[in-house]
Amino acid sequence: MNEKETGIMNQSEQKVNTPERDLWDPLYTKVEKGRYELTSVEFTVTHLCNLRCEHCAVGEDLAEKEGTPLPVDELLRSLDEVETLQTVSFTGGEPILNPQVVRGLIRPLLRYCRDRGIRTQLNSNLTLPLSRYLDWIEDLDVLHISYNYRNDEDFYRIVFKNYGKEVSPCTASALYQQMVDNACELSKLGVFISAESFLSPFTSPHIVKMHQAIVEMGCRRHEVNPLYPSDFARGMKLLSLDELRSTIWELVNHRNPDIWLLFGTLPFYPCSEKQEDRDLWLRLHQEPGVTVRQDPDGRSRLNVNAYTGNVIVTDFGDIPPLGNIRQDRLSDIFERWLEHPVAKKVHCFCPEAHCTGPNLLVANEYYPDWNFAERNAKVTVESNF
Ligand code: SF4
Repeated sequence: MNEKETGIMNQSEQKVNTPERDLWDPLYTKVEKGRYELTSVEFTVTHLCNLRCEHCAVGEDLAEKEGTPLPVDELLRSLDEVETLQTVSFTGGEPILNPQVVRGLIRPLLRYCRDRGIRTQLNSNLTLPLSRYLDWIEDLDVLHISYNYRNDEDFYRIVFKNYGKEVSPCTASALYQQMVDNACELSKLGVFISAESFLSPFTSPHIVKMHQAIVEMGCRRHEVNPLYPSDFARGMKLLSLDELRSTIWELVNHRNPDIWLLFGTLPFYPCSEKQEDRDLWLRLHQEPGVTVRQDPDGRSRLNVNAYTGNVIVTDFGDIPPLGNIRQDRLSDIFERWLEHPVAKKVHCFCPEAHCTGPNLLVANEYYPDWNFAERNAKVTVESNF
């Protein structure tokens, strides 16, 4: 199949967001309007997955079976009233595993977003046959995958860590190859693939090689986050701040400048007393093709469970649902959330440094003694707004 046959290239070329304007970054709205707005909604469209990755951020919520989702019209209605909406994301589980989910939820929601000019992202492990992606992907803007491997052996160890059943190395190897082949093929068709790596004691020494592999698959963006100490990853060893800093330098110094390198939930801030942290912040804001995304969860984004209608802020798992789309407007829930004491704890803001404060999990892990509300940036980033 070529580009002409699918028409994918034209669609996606017109709609991708860029390092100059990352539509999932809440910084822009905060700077331009002086407040946070609900610009992004994430739907959890399944709790089923064919893998059980050791780092899975929703691992404990994964299920063997699941019920019936809410009618898609209810989900669409919840989006209708969000006038500020700019992006919609789909997550799981593996959203593509169940064809009924693709047919009944993902396709109509993607089509709605396309018609409304809303950009979309879908998180997939990309291990299913290529044909399972081709009949809806032209409506998608960003296909987000995970990539934390040097080879199929790493893949086997990482993705079946918590599987609970014996899986043969051959099965794992075939899935790994399917993912790589799919990424190469979809990239050739013009799909914008963003491959995410987490920084951990395992990936840190190999991060440049993983970056090269991501480039070779044709991905357009490499997204890098620290490993989150949540869910399945709760017991995993984390990198120290010194190790994280040197790994990031290594990657920036050896990156391929042809693809966008995005750092999310960065554990370094411009209010740091450490010169090396402030230097890193400034360098990342000066490098062409490198961006630091402020954390959208709770600053511009809410998560909707497509089965219960419950609304949460991803990563704030200990807080009970903030509302339900069957009786609440998403915009009202968002306004209520902004007044929540936990939101206020991490919603510091230093516009001169382009910083909107930390991710809650990262702050709890690395800066338990900092009172972010009382801190101030010590550097200024040149504005490109
Ligand atoms: S916004 Fe918060 S984390 Fe960022 S520099 Fe200011 S006080 Fe520090």
